[in-house]
Amino acid sequence: MRAELKKYWTKRDFKKTPEPKGGKPKKFEQPVFVVQKHQARNLHYDFRLEIDGVLKSWAIPKGPSLNPQDKRLAIPTEDHPREYADFEGVIPEGEYGAGVVLVWDRGTYQNLSKKDGKLVPMQHCWEDGAIEIFLGGKKLKGGFALRRFRRGAKDLWLLIKMRDRYIDEQEDVLVSKPNSVLSGRSLEEIEK
Ligand code: MN
Repeated sequence: MRAELKKYWTKRDFKKTPEPKGGKPKKFEQPVFVVQKHQARNLHYDFRLEIDGVLKSWAIPKGPSLNPQDKRLAIPTEDHPREYADFEGVIPEGEYGAGVVLVWDRGTYQNLSKKDGKLVPMQHCWEDGAIEIFLGGKKLKGGFALRRFRRGAKDLWLLIKMRDRYIDEQEDVLVSKPNSVLSGRSLEEIEK
């Protein structure tokens, strides 16, 4: 049992939703990230980062950007099980997050945060609200910063592309590459 997943489990009825219950021991070496495009009441993107065996999660209303001038609002949501990084499908009506989920991007990541020449553990970065990571996705590559800028009943963060050779200030990657990296399908095709 993972205490962090309690909120995730209590929100869902696993007899009704196809989402994974998760919480199994870890098999993979490298920590993963996933971006899920989620057509619920509002279209948004869920950004998830594996930290100590669970997926720390943020809802990003406008989605990620490769343009370092874009500061994308990221609203923390409940921790998800690692297995959720593979989930794509339809959450039935009446269930939490009802709608269509597509794996928009996925890959491994590396922690870039150093202090006195040593890596700062990801858990500390998350607690401090200052994350810098190198994403190895199919669409999102290079350095990204996640920064908490407001604490309170609702913490708020920003997701910002760091300046490196992977920036793209011309093209909107959400528009040019809208489909699933797992299946190539669009939201509409998954819904059918
Ligand atoms: Mn969502």
